[in-house]
Amino acid sequence: MSRITRFAPSPTGPLHLGHAFSAWEAARVAGDDGTFLLRIEDIDQSRARPEWEAQIFDDLTWLGLSWPTPVLRQSDHLPRYRDALERLWDDGLLYRCTCRRKDIEMALSAPQEGVAPAFGPDGLIYPGTCREVGRPRPNEPRPDDAVLRLDMGRAVAKTGDLWFQEDGTGPNGETGRISIPADQIVQATGDIILARRDMGTSYHLSVVVDDAVQKITHVTRGQDLFEATQIHCVLQTLLDLPRPIYHHHRLIRDENGKRLAKRDDARAIAKYREDGLNPADLHRMVGLRP
Ligand code: GLU
Ligand code: ZN
Repeated sequence: MSRITRFAPSPTGPLHLGHAFSAWEAARVAGDDGTFLLRIEDIDQSRARPEWEAQIFDDLTWLGLSWPTPVLRQSDHLPRYRDALERLWDDGLLYRCTCRRKDIEMALSAPQEGVAPAFGPDGLIYPGTCREVGRPRPNEPRPDDAVLRLDMGRAVAKTGDLWFQEDGTGPNGETGRISIPADQIVQATGDIILARRDMGTSYHLSVVVDDAVQKITHVTRGQDLFEATQIHCVLQTLLDLPRPIYHHHRLIRDENGKRLAKRDDARAIAKYREDGLNPADLHRMVGLRP
């Protein structure tokens, strides 16, 4: 079976060297007889800009990449994510949460026998304040203006232990068959948000739905998303979606060892272009052979 990979940037700023590396990796993993897809992850409409999207097409073309069109743009497919949410809501796996960041910090700072607040893939692990009060009552329609959290305890009670195949490496060298025991997922992630108030979906939900829609065989992305993969595995099982192989790659860092961020305009691909560098120069800069 020939491979299908994707590069899935958010049009919220300029692509930088790290994105160039990631896109090249996805194309390499697809191989000559595979397919490299581009997906625009623009569910955060408060930050996405058409100019950044246009720049993405431009930069990637300059880097020597090509992809089939039309390109999947997440904001064009919101009903798809709503359907997935609907199903999880009807299965009693979601609850409404009205906490603001302040409430969460307060709940977490309340003294509890030596339990320090923990961080998961989305930041502070939610203490579960709304879990009981926010549960759907029988036949209650799903609210479309509330934050919805996944009750991870209930979710993994359904899925049991999970695993995925890692063909690249995680941040600590994890590779091969990665097992994720159910109780460990609950601890490591907590009740993550699946629908944000403003957009009715979330990165985790959209990415899992779209990887299935696009029949992605190898998810190629940075090691910063390795910890999120366990969440994606839970969602795939709950939604009966196939599980791709994962290929996490190293991150491109600056000279101080800090990984590049969107605001690192100095390392924007467009900036290097302006300065007269060519794609082969960037290839070398990210440690790839010309
Ligand atoms: N849209 C995500 C980002 O820009 C990448 C998502 C993924 O590869 O799973 O970081
Ligand atoms: Zn809450």
